[in-house]
Amino acid sequence: MPNRLIFLGTGGGRHVMLAQVRKTGGIYVELDGKKFVIDPGPGSLVNARRIKLNPENWNGLFLSHVHPDNSSDADVLLDGMKEPFIVAERHCVKPSRDFYPIVSKYHQEKANVYAVKEGDRIKVNGFDVFVTKADHYDPTAGFVIKGSKTIGYAADGVYYKGQERQFSDCDVLILNVLVPTKMKTEPHKHMSVDEAIKMVKKAKNKPKLIVIQHFSFWMLRADVYVQAKIIEKGTGIKTVAAEDFMEIDLDTLKIVKRKAQEQDWL
Ligand SMILES: [Zn+2]
Repeated sequence: MPNRLIFLGTGGGRHVMLAQVRKTGGIYVELDGKKFVIDPGPGSLVNARRIKLNPENWNGLFLSHVHPDNSSDADVLLDGMKEPFIVAERHCVKPSRDFYPIVSKYHQEKANVYAVKEGDRIKVNGFDVFVTKADHYDPTAGFVIKGSKTIGYAADGVYYKGQERQFSDCDVLILNVLVPTKMKTEPHKHMSVDEAIKMVKKAKNKPKLIVIQHFSFWMLRADVYVQAKIIEKGTGIKTVAAEDFMEIDLDTLKIVKRKAQEQDWL
């Protein structure tokens, strides 16, 4: 059984989501024989099918926050899964004053639901999951998912002091970087290239590989490959700008680029 990640989309933010210049299907993971998706935005199911992944064999999903570019396909995918787990920032699954749950009652009833908040540590399907704090304008959680390999996902949000301490010893650290180098971030919005460098430089136990994704038009116009190189130079850690359908072998950290073929459908 391979341990791997496949990006079912690498776009982020309202404008790229609506334009679909990069897809927005989230990150599909196979780890220790389990299959799940992190932040399945619009097109997650369709893009999974384009490369012949079958959500009917998946074990669950992670949701970092309620924004549609990270969550809109959750119910669609859960429709196919048997006894799935849902690890979700609690507003994604619990009614609250300001947010409707994004996972329906029906889909929650057929699942093992973990409604989480920052600082939680839970065991899910054999994984140790640590829920990290994110500084984003709606309630958001990141995740460190530890099996035989450790995946860190900071989710949306700007860098805050001490963030790096929550992501020690990751094999892969996935950062949603929407602001190019030398540009200022807005409070509680999105991480910049310069912040990503700061975060990793300060980390004691650094990741083996950094992957940036969830790209805005701003990042795409600034050339995400150039921006990844700037992070790599600034941190000394190999950094990759994710592409739609790109695969990362978690055992070797080799990158596989694949093009989805129209004839691969079904
Ligand atoms: Zn967001």
